[in-house]
Formats: sequence, C-alpha cells, structure tokens
Amino acid sequence: MRPAPLIVIIALLLQFCEGPPQNNEPLVELKDYNGNIVMDIRYATTNNFLHEQVYPEARCFVRERVAVKLDSIQQELEQQGLGLKVFDGYRPLAVQYKMWEILPDDRYVADPKYGSLHNRGAAVDVSLVDSTGKELPMPTDYDDFTEKAYHSFNDLPAEVLENRKLLETIMDKYGFVSLETEWWHYHIKNYRQYPIMDISFREIKEQKKPLN
Ligand SMILES: [Zn+2]
Repeated sequence: MRPAPLIVIIALLLQFCEGPPQNNEPLVELKDYNGNIVMDIRYATTNNFLHEQVYPEARCFVRERVAVKLDSIQQELEQQGLGLKVFDGYRPLAVQYKMWEILPDDRYVADPKYGSLHNRGAAVDVSLVDSTGKELPMPTDYDDFTEKAYHSFNDLPAEVLENRKLLETIMDKYGFVSLETEWWHYHIKNYRQYPIMDISFREIKEQKKPLN
C-alpha cells in the first residue's frame, strides 16, 4: 500500500482538530428571555455544598442560544402546569478558581485548569416546579454528590423517577445532554464551540448598557 500523500494526512488531521472555540455569542441574562423561570441561585447564598457564597449576586447568565431554548422549554412546561427552576448557569472562571481553592477535589469541583461546562455559558443546572413554584420531588437535593443523584440510580419512588425522566425528555428535545452523575445538570451538545470565559456578572451587565 502506498503511503497517503501529505495533503491527505493534513486534511484528515484538520478534520479532527477543532481549533480554539470561536463562537462569541453573547452571554445574556436568562430573566430577560423568560421572567417566569424560578431562580434559586445557590452559589449566591451559603446554602450550597461549599457553605460559602461565591457569586456576588443571584443572577443567571447563559449563551443567547441557551436562553432561547430555556424560554421554549418553560413555555412548553407551562402548558402542563409546570415550569423550570434554575440553580446555576454561566460561572466566571475566577469563581471556578475560588471554588477549587475551597474544595480542590475534582470529584466535586471541576479543575479550573480545564474549566467547567458552566465556564462556557453552555450549561445549566435545573429542576422542575409546579404552578406555585414548588419543586417537584427529585432524587436528591441540588449538588448531592452521592450515587442517588446518578441517572442510573433507580431505587426511587415512581413519582421521582417520572419527574427525573420528564426533565430529561424535555431537555433532550431542545438539544441538551445530561451528565450521568448529576440529575440536575444539562449542557448543549456542541458546547465546545464556546470558549471558557472569565467575565464577571457586573461586566456582562455593563456591556449591555447603551452607549451615550
Ligand atoms: Zn452543572
């Protein structure tokens, strides 16, 4: 067999190398796209697994495309008397470093050297609520790092299994994928196109101000 010409090898390599992420779609505030989505931004409180407040404010920012999808999901859920609750969205890389400082263990916190899906603005942590805003029973509380939070854990009441499935089904319908170990975590399929960001919540808001 003749060796492949260099040009073919280069073409093949290029196909597999995605290069640095290029998509600079803006980070937007989710409530500007749908004000009905319930916010429970735990990292802006001490009610989280780190027991420390690491966000200055309880706000949820995501890539614009993620916000559009979550708005559609919320509208569809409302037809069934349900809605979304969001625990977390975009997380500045500086916060990832702070979390790592508090708990440098990659079983619980993504190593900031590699970044988290949340640092790309391409992930959300979500649950379901009823029409009064009360969370539906789910396998565990948010950020419970036990096997009970795994999608493969099925030793749960039928109602809980149904709720987890309902969330997974609707997120999947709009192009989100889950992580096996966290029932609440979803990210968009082509998250790699979005770079890891280190812009603070305040800076995002300031960018949006009209110039005058
Ligand atoms: Zn997550």
